[in-house]
Amino acid sequence: MDLQVCGAAREVTGSCYWLHVGTASFLVDCGMHQGGDKEEALNSAPFPFDPRAIDFLLLTHAHIDHSGLIPRLVREGFSGPIYATSATCDLAEIMLLDSAHIQESEAEWRDRKARRAGRGVEEPLYTQEDARRVPALCKAVEYDRPIDVAPGVAVVFHDAGHILGSAFLELRLEEPGQKAMVLFSGDVGQPDQPIIRDPEIVDKTDYLIMESTYGDREHPHDGHPREELAEILKEARRTGGNVIIPAFAVGRTQELLFFLREISDAHQLDMPVYVDSPLAVRATEVYRRHRDDFDEESQKMFAEDGGLFDWPQLHYTTSADESRALNDKRGIVIISASGMADAGRIKHHLKHNLWRPEAHVVIVGFQAQDTLGRRLLEGDKRVRIFGEEIAVKAHIHELSELSAHADQSQLVSWASHFKPPRLTILTHGELHAAMTLERILEERLIFTVVIAEKGEVFELKEVAR
Ligand SMILES: [Zn+2]
Ligand SMILES: [Zn+2]
Repeated sequence: MDLQVCGAAREVTGSCYWLHVGTASFLVDCGMHQGGDKEEALNSAPFPFDPRAIDFLLLTHAHIDHSGLIPRLVREGFSGPIYATSATCDLAEIMLLDSAHIQESEAEWRDRKARRAGRGVEEPLYTQEDARRVPALCKAVEYDRPIDVAPGVAVVFHDAGHILGSAFLELRLEEPGQKAMVLFSGDVGQPDQPIIRDPEIVDKTDYLIMESTYGDREHPHDGHPREELAEILKEARRTGGNVIIPAFAVGRTQELLFFLREISDAHQLDMPVYVDSPLAVRATEVYRRHRDDFDEESQKMFAEDGGLFDWPQLHYTTSADESRALNDKRGIVIISASGMADAGRIKHHLKHNLWRPEAHVVIVGFQAQDTLGRRLLEGDKRVRIFGEEIAVKAHIHELSELSAHADQSQLVSWASHFKPPRLTILTHGELHAAMTLERILEERLIFTVVIAEKGEVFELKEVAR
């Protein structure tokens, strides 16, 4: 029995593990590398395995850094089942289609450039046609119910409390004369996030493969996003301006709707709210279908008057015309993607509002270097959008960072429930984050810890080092 770390080693994206148990050869996650050009070039590098020879795939959750290369896997011959929770199957369907659309348009742009330079043809990483073949392979599984996926391979999906449908996986592996329990943390959620449940607790495993994204950081725990948001809305009503919120379409948008609904219930919201992103509208539909996965509070909100995602001031816009019509409105809230304001419809809304002193822009999540969101946060007074110079006169606010990821102490607290595993393998974190978490797990919990290297193979029988 062995496990190879094929990605997310000393980096946060590209999650992928390849396992051999008896005659079975299978993957846990098949994610895309995201970030700079160098990272993205990895997405077209040959897989270390033959996709045709992979028997099945276990998918922890729908985020692209865990699922984004599945259409390419299918394009290259993978045809086995993909086991995931029902909500993950549904979210992956819309997110992979969206990702394929982006791949196609970027390839088209590169292709035009390549042709002008007299170079060869540029192909997309995968197409919408490839992505459309994924849902037929998906097999929905329930949380907390062990299933046999191959001789000697049983798996239980536990709620990871990270995004809707997210799971960590408990694998029970058996070969003649050998047995091992392996637990993949997937991405561990932050407790007390709105809508979804808290991460489950498990107390036993032989091998723990654990993410370390925030291994060296704590989220700020002062301030509450709902109260901060209510204050901004009050101010916007006074100035008569629009409130523009760049937000990820899946997860963050629904979280914002939860807070806005609470503000509305407290009679502090008398502005119409528009969700202007076709992906966010589709994702919200998926959320509606999976209320069973919500925490008690949100289930109650739904049960009472159907209202987490339907209330009188809330509108969804999908067509480009409806989106354009928002340019003429004043005194409205617009939630639109992308979350870092570097692509999508949000750029149009920023172009039409940034120069207005009465407008408000609310930054709600992590903003990477070189994105428009980051520039606004850093206080740039002029930005370029669609080649046009725009003055920044609007009020720029930053909400206490919302995060789907557990921070350092939340990760340590989640891990502290395990009796020390034979070996803990840290992945899904930059080196500094992983090293910091390694030290704490070793000192405080007496764990034996290694930080995985890309391509490293671990024998699943005794301590590998
Ligand atoms: Zn994730
Ligand atoms: Zn991730």
